[in-house]
Amino acid sequence: MDRLKILKSRLPDWLGKLRAQAAVYAPVERAGVTCFARLAPGDEPQLDYGNTDTPLKEVLFPQTECLITWQRTPEGLQVQEVDTSEPTVIFGARPCDVTGLRFLDRAFRLGGIEDPYWVRRRDKTTVISLVCPHPVPGCFGPSAGVNETSPEGADVVLTDIGSAYVVEVKSEQGQAAVDLASDAFTSAAEEDLIAAREAGETLLAELAEQAIDLEEPEARAKAFLQSPAWEQVWNRCLSCGICAFLCPTCHCFDICDQSCRGGGERIRCYDTCSSKIYTKQAGGHNARPTAKERLTQRVMHKFSYGPERLGVLGCVGCGRCRRCPVDIDLQLELSRVEVKEPV
Ligand code: SF4
Ligand code: SF4
Repeated sequence: MDRLKILKSRLPDWLGKLRAQAAVYAPVERAGVTCFARLAPGDEPQLDYGNTDTPLKEVLFPQTECLITWQRTPEGLQVQEVDTSEPTVIFGARPCDVTGLRFLDRAFRLGGIEDPYWVRRRDKTTVISLVCPHPVPGCFGPSAGVNETSPEGADVVLTDIGSAYVVEVKSEQGQAAVDLASDAFTSAAEEDLIAAREAGETLLAELAEQAIDLEEPEARAKAFLQSPAWEQVWNRCLSCGICAFLCPTCHCFDICDQSCRGGGERIRCYDTCSSKIYTKQAGGHNARPTAKERLTQRVMHKFSYGPERLGVLGCVGCGRCRRCPVDIDLQLELSRVEVKEPV
C-alpha cells in the first residue's frame, strides 16, 4: 500500500473521528505515571513519551475485571456473564507493546480454547502504533525479535518526521481507521519517505548499542540455570511480582468469588508465578516453595515453554522488569551466559 502522511496539526481531527466510533486509548500521564487511558472529549494524548510505565496489556486484560455476576431471586439463581467489550482503538502504542499482544493472542487462544474476555476485546480493537524516536534506556526490542519500525500486530504504524507522521496502513482494519478522516491524510512525498527511513535507521543504530544476546533462548535459559550466577540471582528475589505485573506478555490471573446479600460477582485479577502462594495447594503442599523454583519457572516460561508452545519469545525487550527493586535483570544475565554446543 502507498504510504500516507498526516500533519500533527490534523491529529485532533483524526482522533475526534476515531473517538466518535470507538473508545480510544492512548498514552497519558496520570499522577506521575504514564499509562494507556481512555481519552475523554478534549483529552490530548501524550505522544512525546519514551514508553508507558505500565504495559499496554492492561487495556485488553485489565488488572481486575468482573467475569460474571449472580443474584438469588424467588425464581432461582440468576447468573449474568459480563461483557464490557466495545469497539476500541489503541493509539500510539510502542512496537514492543504491540508485539506483546502477539504472545497474548496466542496464549489466550492456546489449544483452540479461547478466553472469551480477551478475544471479544481483541477482535474489536484496532492498533495504531507509534515508532519510537529514540530507544528508552534498557530497551532491547530487536534482540527479542521486535520489528521496531513496522511491528507485527499493528494495523497502522506512524513514524514521526517532525511536523507530520508518515503513515503505514497494514490491514483492512487500519484502512478503515484512516478512511474515517481521509481528508486529514495526503500521499507521502519522496522526501517524507526518506525522512521516515532515516528516522528508522537512526533508531535501529541506537538500539544496536543496547543490544543483548538472546540467541538460542532455550539453551541459554538452561545454561543460565546451571551457571554460578544463578544462585546470586534467585537468592535476591523478593517474590514481589513487579516484573510480572509490568511485563506486556505475563498473563497469569487468579479468580475469586465475592458474595453479598444474595448476590455476588466473580472477579479475576493479575497473579504471578513469583508469588509465594501461587502453587500452594489446599493441603498445604507448595510445588514451588522458594524463589529458586519460582524464578526458574519465569525464566523457562519466557525462553523455553513459551516459544515451544506459542512459537514466540515471552519477552519483547521493553526493559520494564529492570525496575526490579533488587536489580535482578534476567535478560542481561541470560545474555552473558556461555551457550555450549550440544555434544
Ligand atoms: S520480560 Fe521484562 S523486558 Fe521482557 S517483555 Fe517482560 S517486562 Fe519487558
Ligand atoms: S521484580 Fe525482582 S524481586 Fe520482584 S519478583 Fe521480579 S525478580 Fe523477584
